[in-house]
Amino acid sequence: MIKLASREGSEMLVSRNHQAEDSQIKVKGCIIGGNQLAVIAGPCAIENEEILKETAFKVRGCGASFLRGGAYKPRTSPYSFQGLGEEGLKILARVGEEMNMPVITEVMDSDDIELVAEYSDVIQVGARNMHNFALLRKLGKTDKPVVLKRGLSATIEEWLLAAEYILAGGNMQVILCERGIRSAEPWTRNTLDLSAVALVKELSHLPVLVDPSHATGVRSLVTPMAKAAIAAGADGIMVEVHPHPEKALSDGEQSLTPRGFSQLMKAIEPVARAIGRGVR
Ligand code: PEP
Ligand code: MN
Repeated sequence: MIKLASREGSEMLVSRNHQAEDSQIKVKGCIIGGNQLAVIAGPCAIENEEILKETAFKVRGCGASFLRGGAYKPRTSPYSFQGLGEEGLKILARVGEEMNMPVITEVMDSDDIELVAEYSDVIQVGARNMHNFALLRKLGKTDKPVVLKRGLSATIEEWLLAAEYILAGGNMQVILCERGIRSAEPWTRNTLDLSAVALVKELSHLPVLVDPSHATGVRSLVTPMAKAAIAAGADGIMVEVHPHPEKALSDGEQSLTPRGFSQLMKAIEPVARAIGRGVR
């Protein structure tokens, strides 16, 4: 029997025993955790305004409701493109406004929370920062929804406890995102843990997204895993899209072209319908 740790004798705030009904997070008229699936799409990194605008226009046309893009990128090598920083945030906010799409971007440093919150509708905590308790505590004091990605090798309990840090601070607007975990398998970037999606939906009232892009690292696997994620009960997906993946400054090999994204949207629709959910 799986049991979440308790909160000084009472149920944890993330727990279904604390709140039986699903949490729904409303962002500018879009809902994450409702019957309609939330689709978040955009490039890994914001590279310039033109590329972001083209991507946003195309993914919106296919039915994505949120625009993603990183301004602060947690790159493995310090010599890789690190993101445009504040300039990237400004571009993201402008394009989101123009396209009428709520935007989501990652914060890496707790000193940047205020700045990121000024430009972004939703704040992302990346996998590498899931264990950054100082950052989580500070996000508990903001009024912005937070997407909390699962840590590279985090257990489900560690992930839920990381979410609890944000809830315990007073911010109940947390969205979990399964993005694959480290395994012995070298042919995929990570291993998508779909059982975690089903289990977290049992244990917690928080919405759960799946990021099939980082979970696989392989373009051709993104659509099959998006379909599987929805069948497993995910409340939405986050997908990397770039108009010219071969020229992308990060994660090109896992980025879909707009055409590929359009095919993904067509492929997930019947899966969503089969389980009584809609896309958008
Ligand atoms: C991202 O979404 O761009 C990202 C860096 O993801 P993760 O933190 O899951 O690796
Ligand atoms: Mn990426």
